[in-house]
Amino acid sequence: MLTTTILAARCSAKPALAAARSATTLRFARGYASSPEYDVVVVGGGPGGYVAAIKASQLGLKTACVEGRGALGGTCLNVGCIPSKSLLHNSHLYHQAVHDFKKRGIEISDVKINLPQMLGQKEKSVKGLTGGIELLFKKNKTDYVKGWGKIVSPNEVSVEGEDGQKTIKTKNIIIATGSEVTPFPGVEIDEEVIVSSTGALSLKKVPEKMIVIGGGVIGLELGSVWGRLGAQVTTVEYMDAIGAGMDADIAKTFQRVLAKQGMKFKLSTKVISATKNSNGKVDVVVEAAKGGKQEKFEVDVVLVAIGRRPLTKGLGLESVGVEVDNKGRVKADHEFKTNVPGIRAIGDVIAGPMLAHKAEEEGIAAVEYIAGGHGHVNYGAIPSVIYTYPEVAWVGKTEAEAKAAGIKYKIGSFPFAANSRAKTMDDYEGTIKIISEAETDKIVGAHIIGPNAGEMIAEAVLAIEYGASSEDIARTCHAHPTLSEAFKEACMATYDKPIHF
Ligand SMILES: Cc1cc2nc3c(=O)[nH]c(=O)nc-3n(C[C@H](O)[C@H](O)[C@H](O)COP(=O)(O)OP(=O)(O)OC[C@H]3O[C@@H](n4cnc5c(N)ncnc54)[C@H](O)[C@@H]3O)c2cc1C
Repeated sequence: MLTTTILAARCSAKPALAAARSATTLRFARGYASSPEYDVVVVGGGPGGYVAAIKASQLGLKTACVEGRGALGGTCLNVGCIPSKSLLHNSHLYHQAVHDFKKRGIEISDVKINLPQMLGQKEKSVKGLTGGIELLFKKNKTDYVKGWGKIVSPNEVSVEGEDGQKTIKTKNIIIATGSEVTPFPGVEIDEEVIVSSTGALSLKKVPEKMIVIGGGVIGLELGSVWGRLGAQVTTVEYMDAIGAGMDADIAKTFQRVLAKQGMKFKLSTKVISATKNSNGKVDVVVEAAKGGKQEKFEVDVVLVAIGRRPLTKGLGLESVGVEVDNKGRVKADHEFKTNVPGIRAIGDVIAGPMLAHKAEEEGIAAVEYIAGGHGHVNYGAIPSVIYTYPEVAWVGKTEAEAKAAGIKYKIGSFPFAANSRAKTMDDYEGTIKIISEAETDKIVGAHIIGPNAGEMIAEAVLAIEYGASSEDIARTCHAHPTLSEAFKEACMATYDKPIHF
């Protein structure tokens, strides 16, 4: 059904795309290249914006992407997904070398951290990838306009760049300006001892003691990095669970595993203040969320990781009348249209999970709507991954969400301890939990904590996208010995019984 709809949409989009292509060719012939009028101008070169821009060019639309930070790739490539994953990977290797290799029969001595080298590796991955997008722009003939963009009318973007100000004309504007760190009221971030995620990616030395404010994805990932490198990390979380809304069973296991690794938790606790003291350290005062006796800590570094907020500063939304919601997010409909004709918005700056792959999907769909009138984003099948060790990944509904939606459901689970590949790797902490509709067996949620969860979740995403039942997956042959067999067995457990547990 889904496939048919998409195919139909794609087929009917073809004449419009062909028309768009020939129109672009015509404009070039008339000399638009010297005084370009664009079909699409994307403001913001993050994963939403640069992907939208490349896709628009591929569809034959004359496209420019305006980016102010001096590098393409946005938050994700410059100060988000990519640098954090580099640090997570390398800090994990260090941690394994120190704490895990010996039991595997690998004896090494004198393992040391060379932090500048580790940070250098991170920079290398960032530069390689951001530079790669510039090459993709050249390959696809997408114009990269360096500077900060301001929408001055539904058809004009003024850009303040190194070479002064210029105005570019366009038929369509896509706002893809992303998000920024949400400040903690009264706590001043200096990116030295009181840091946001950006500062936490470049600490000059490993702190002895660190407090992370916020037990969500970013706090847990970056807390893990510095914990593995030797910091004593305490996560303070206002809610009574960590993990940014993940399934409650998985969140409990996750907290237990992280605690075993040495991370401390203060849940249902609020931070009252965090101030730099005369020793160059930070005094942090906390108390129970409900109120009560206060506790004071002196730590070397505080990471403020309470979330991100949409970034629309200086974009000129008020003057052109683009509406935002009560959280400052640009209001956009299912075709990503704002209330102003010709202006669309995608990614972190609109509602929905703040994830790079969600922004990318929206970027492609928004452009397809412009080019041909059809696009596709399935918000029920957007995976989330926490790249800790073990990884946590999920897609679809949690058990609590299924319950709240009135869905009658079945649950199947399978522990990695019963999976042969995990045993050979001696890496079997974790479990898989599948939720399917009781009557139809259709999978509505999949929740994994364990080795390679972030890769394995793709199978669950595909299952949900295509409306698979747990029996469909259970009857699909999975290679042996692989971790993915645990996913198959969790599906077996959902509609019947697993073999190996
Ligand atoms: C530490 C950290 C780790 C993360 N890890 C992950 C992860 O593992 N996986 C994941 O999916 N997501 C992750 N995220 C979230 C992810 O980075 C964002 O969801 C994603 O970058 C959003 O993409 P975007 O294109 O909407 O916006 P952004 O990536 O924020 O890009 C917007 C761009 O627009 C530019 N801009 C803003 N205003 C203007 C203007 N007026 N003119 C010109 N340019 C402008 C900005 O400079 C920026 O480059 C992480 C975030 C952080 C902070």
